[in-house]
Amino acid sequence: MTKPITVPLLDLKAQYATLRDEIRPAVDRVLESQACINGPEVAQLEKEIAAYSSAKHCIGVSSGTDALVLCLMALDVGAGDEVVTTPYTFFATAGSIARLGAKPVFVDIDPATFNIDPSKIEAAITPKTKAIMPVHLYGQCAEMDPILAIARKHNLPVIEDAAQAIGSEYKGKRAGSMGTVGCFSFFPSKNLGAVGDAGAVTCQDDALAKRLVKLRGHGANVKYYHDEVGGNFRLDTIHAAVLSVKLKYLDQWTAARQANAAFYTKAIESNKATRAMITPPPIVQSRHIFNQFVLRVKDRDGLKDFLKVHQIGTEIYYPVPMHLQKCFADLGHQEGDFLHSEEAALTTIAIPIYPELSDAHKQHVVNSLAAFAAEKTATKAA
Ligand SMILES: *Cc1c(COP(=O)(O)O)cnc(C)c1O
Repeated sequence: MTKPITVPLLDLKAQYATLRDEIRPAVDRVLESQACINGPEVAQLEKEIAAYSSAKHCIGVSSGTDALVLCLMALDVGAGDEVVTTPYTFFATAGSIARLGAKPVFVDIDPATFNIDPSKIEAAITPKTKAIMPVHLYGQCAEMDPILAIARKHNLPVIEDAAQAIGSEYKGKRAGSMGTVGCFSFFPSKNLGAVGDAGAVTCQDDALAKRLVKLRGHGANVKYYHDEVGGNFRLDTIHAAVLSVKLKYLDQWTAARQANAAFYTKAIESNKATRAMITPPPIVQSRHIFNQFVLRVKDRDGLKDFLKVHQIGTEIYYPVPMHLQKCFADLGHQEGDFLHSEEAALTTIAIPIYPELSDAHKQHVVNSLAAFAAEKTATKAA
């Protein structure tokens, strides 16, 4: 008997092992310099992320959540305002809107892509609407052309929640370069991960970039002279140093994720039983970076349990759409308000897609999906 294979959802130790010899000296340099805040590594990373994302400016910040909050502040979103967004996302998207006293106004997703359905946005716009916040979920860009057209027509800024989408493209344009601002997260499980919480904002406009920098440091351009109330949203130097090392490998990692995705998709579609039961993620944009590889399957919980028995890590992104969250009860939503989001919450499951997966890992995943489908088919036939 061969040893059973364990496939975790993500293996950050495997990635670190390949970079230890580069990351340790970079961290050491920061420690020796003790320029822990605003060290030269921060400006260097900002330059690199701006170039990578085809943006004129990049402002390093303390997390993806703070990137969203900071952008909303810089766009003067506050109490009584409304921001149009998707209910099928990580909490930070809607949470950041609510934290500023504004109201998240939800628009259902396109079930084909899990991203906000542009054809439903206009009906959600009111005189109180202050911004549109699409999310590039799982690493695939939202349909930006119609979103940007609606924004132009109503003179609204667009905040791209690109937390899961660094390097992804829509019609050849990079995430974070299309909207008024782009928000990135360097949370460790994102494709480019820091050694803790970190994030970035991209934008094209010089004046807006200045305001973002000011608000990042308590609203002061000159130390201790505060023009307005901002916050402490700074990116730590140590994260910037690590991220610059990792950024050099990001395209290589993305290519590996895409190859893994292609392998899974081909395997699922070439087996009759899996093809009938499991839907791989549709790829409609030119560069999906697969922060997650999310399957659709009716008996989602059954598959989750089955894969657990076979030592394969999975996760549900996300089990409860935002409009049904307890903390948003006062928005007055109920089940049935956003059917596609609710259906996605019940039928989606992420399987391991990280770049360091071995052929044996992937084969074990594919074999287990096939075994699940065969078992289900047999029970149905019996
Ligand atoms: C991760 C994530 C965020 C928040 O980023 P943090 O760095 O964890 O604060 C926001 N939006 C989406 C869609 C995310 O996936």
